[in-house]
Amino acid sequence: MENINHTGAAAGTDQEAAESSKNFIEQEIDQDLAEGVYNHVQTRFPPEPNGYLHIGHAKSILLNYGLAKKYGGKFNLRFDDTNPTKEKTEFVESIIEDVKWLGADFEDRLFFASDYFETMYECAVLLIKKGKAFVCDLSAEEIREYRGDFTTPGRESPYRNRSVEENLRLFEEMKEGKYADGEKVLRAKIDMTSPNINMRDPVIYRVAHMAHHNTGDKWCIYPMYDFAHPIEDAVEHITHSICTLEFEDHRPLYDWVVRECEFENPPRQIEFAKLYLTNVVTGKRYIKKLVENGIVDGWDDPRLVSIAALRRRGYTPESIQKFVELVGVAKANSSVDYALLEYCIREDLKLKRPRMMAVLDPVKLVIDNYPEGQTEMLSIPNNLENESLGERQVPFSRELYIEREDFMEVPPKKYFRLFPGNEVRLMGAYFVTCTGCEKDADGRVTVVHGIYDPETKSGSGFTGRKVKGTIHWVSVPTAEKVECRLYENIVDEEKGKLNADGTLNLNPNSLTVLKDCYVEPALKGAKAYDSFQFMRSGYFCVDSRDSRPDAPVFNRIVSLKSSFKL
Ligand code: ATP
Ligand code: MG
Repeated sequence: MENINHTGAAAGTDQEAAESSKNFIEQEIDQDLAEGVYNHVQTRFPPEPNGYLHIGHAKSILLNYGLAKKYGGKFNLRFDDTNPTKEKTEFVESIIEDVKWLGADFEDRLFFASDYFETMYECAVLLIKKGKAFVCDLSAEEIREYRGDFTTPGRESPYRNRSVEENLRLFEEMKEGKYADGEKVLRAKIDMTSPNINMRDPVIYRVAHMAHHNTGDKWCIYPMYDFAHPIEDAVEHITHSICTLEFEDHRPLYDWVVRECEFENPPRQIEFAKLYLTNVVTGKRYIKKLVENGIVDGWDDPRLVSIAALRRRGYTPESIQKFVELVGVAKANSSVDYALLEYCIREDLKLKRPRMMAVLDPVKLVIDNYPEGQTEMLSIPNNLENESLGERQVPFSRELYIEREDFMEVPPKKYFRLFPGNEVRLMGAYFVTCTGCEKDADGRVTVVHGIYDPETKSGSGFTGRKVKGTIHWVSVPTAEKVECRLYENIVDEEKGKLNADGTLNLNPNSLTVLKDCYVEPALKGAKAYDSFQFMRSGYFCVDSRDSRPDAPVFNRIVSLKSSFKL
């Protein structure tokens, strides 16, 4: 798996291995370059600005960007904003931010399909002049009826044989606003008997009296996707127009448009399978409902897999790049285990981030033989697996917070943490022996007591005896109180993603808010998106929306343990 993208190999078997590990898109590009179909590679990511990008789009972005980079070519970001009904500037901004954050550098090549409306109009006029397009007065319903289906051939529109002059005049009138929405359309004249329904005289322009976010009221006719998209690609000199499988049947129309519009060295379309993930919700329709019904707190709720949500949760661009690389490209749709994404972020943060102590479910431990009012500073390495992260000073004192689950009055077998008479190591500090506990009227433990052995200080070289358990702690007087948010998948795939009535089968435990957590003072001043390992609890990230200096909020990115093996 490691050499999926390993192409720079020098010679011999390495070179061969690199060639055979190329994905099918790379193989096609190699062939195009070898045969001189193209002499360069130019790709693009063409989002419609009608929502936030998600992990599936990240795959498309990194695939297109990666190919351009690999072949010394260029990568464009182009907004496919040809449908004025659903598009918003808010989405344009979020998409630009997300693409940049992912590391897909489009340099100065940020384009809007709506900037090509004039060219598209000219292409339509050219088609009319060539007798390849006609204005049709059938209603949308009639067009559908005439189109036929997989078993029935289509019937020709009664308007199909209008003269070029009449078509030119009517199309001009459509543009001038003479007709109401739906009254007339422009259709390509291809073949009503084609086995491919997309080729049965598809509509290429419609009337829509609607303001556009970029062009305002300039146009009242708008091109249809299947006509606009190939022209956008051709205008930008895209060579390989990479899209998802549902467009496979549209490819003959794509080729027809670039050919009949007489573009030189036209682009070609290559399809790959969409990325699906288990246990998450990617469809815009469902996410919108979750947002509108207040089940999640916005498009960037950390339980979602929009890019904004992953960023807020604490995912890094590197982890998503790794994920996309491991998933590879395929020609058949399949679902990828969410655990693979978790594996990638764990791997990415493992050596990069400091490991700190945080107590999520606190109970007090009082060390009765430690001097009252004394604080000593202990040097603790920031990451035992990466010395370059250095050390930090951690205050230690008589009163500590420990995890409630690290003490049991009556322990089960193989419990090596605190119970009366047992000795454990306090991480980076001393051995402490439990002497008992205090409880409230309900029998709930309120304070654990212990005594420490000053001889056993960490790093002092003490070898006198060994203990089986090590627990983490935070010194009470200097502890920083924080909120921690723990997440589970929002839907449980094994129990079924949807209920019988079509609504999402939501996991009621997808969010747990812990208000009384304590962290080391070294975490004071952590900024939005900063992430850390909280020892034994997982990786956490400062929430970019709700965290405040006087009331920090941490999101758990991922726990430490994984059921996933690569
Ligand atoms: P959605 O259906 O999730 O809203 P979309 O296809 O409507 O997605 P677009 O903005 O039209 O979103 O897509 C931009 C690009 O992203 C297209 O090239 C599309 O093929 C690609 N894309 C969308 N979803 C996925 C996915 N799950 N995996 C890979 N590529 C995707
Ligand atoms: Mg779409």
